[in-house]
Amino acid sequence: MNEKTTQLKKSLSIAAMIDESAMADKIRSIGYKCVRCAKCCIEDYGDNTVSVFPFEIRRISEKTGLKWEDIAVPSPSEDRDTDGNIHTFEWVLKKNGNCAFLDKGLCKIYECRPYICSTYPFYLFEGRLMVSVCEGIGSAISNEDAMKMAALLKERYIAEIRETIALLEKFMGFKPDGRGAICVHDSEGEHWIRQTERSSNI
Ligand code: SF4
Repeated sequence: MNEKTTQLKKSLSIAAMIDESAMADKIRSIGYKCVRCAKCCIEDYGDNTVSVFPFEIRRISEKTGLKWEDIAVPSPSEDRDTDGNIHTFEWVLKKNGNCAFLDKGLCKIYECRPYICSTYPFYLFEGRLMVSVCEGIGSAISNEDAMKMAALLKERYIAEIRETIALLEKFMGFKPDGRGAICVHDSEGEHWIRQTERSSNI
């Protein structure tokens, strides 16, 4: 665990030096414009699961007034402790097939949507720019928008590494505590969910 954390801290230092202008040039050469197809939010077009960090859930909660459990559920997991409780490492946005926040083709939480949504179809893997399938790829993008996307991608990448470090530092193993049925291990520690609160998504 310590070795992994040390590695991640190195990655964090490297991430801080990512050249946003160079990344914006790549984004411009690929091209992107959202065509509002909403396919990234709809189940029929592939995996529309959106992982969310605790701070993103809190931000959505502050903006919308929704409770945590109305926003996110534990990511499905096969990991069990000795009492049979489920352990998982991620929260995902609620879905009813499609994302629960999609309404008539529009995002109801657009201003506070998670990084995965605000940077779609781009993401960074080991510091390299990657692109997911998207109808908007290949369309012209302005310098300003490419720079904004590059800055957001770097911010997301750093947040992902920070969240993982915090998770590893707080992780105490799969220990049953007798209180609940599901435990989400995240950057804030352990979130136990009682049996009565279990979501049908799990
Ligand atoms: S939060 Fe908004 S943008 Fe993200 S998947 Fe849901 S509806 Fe789509």
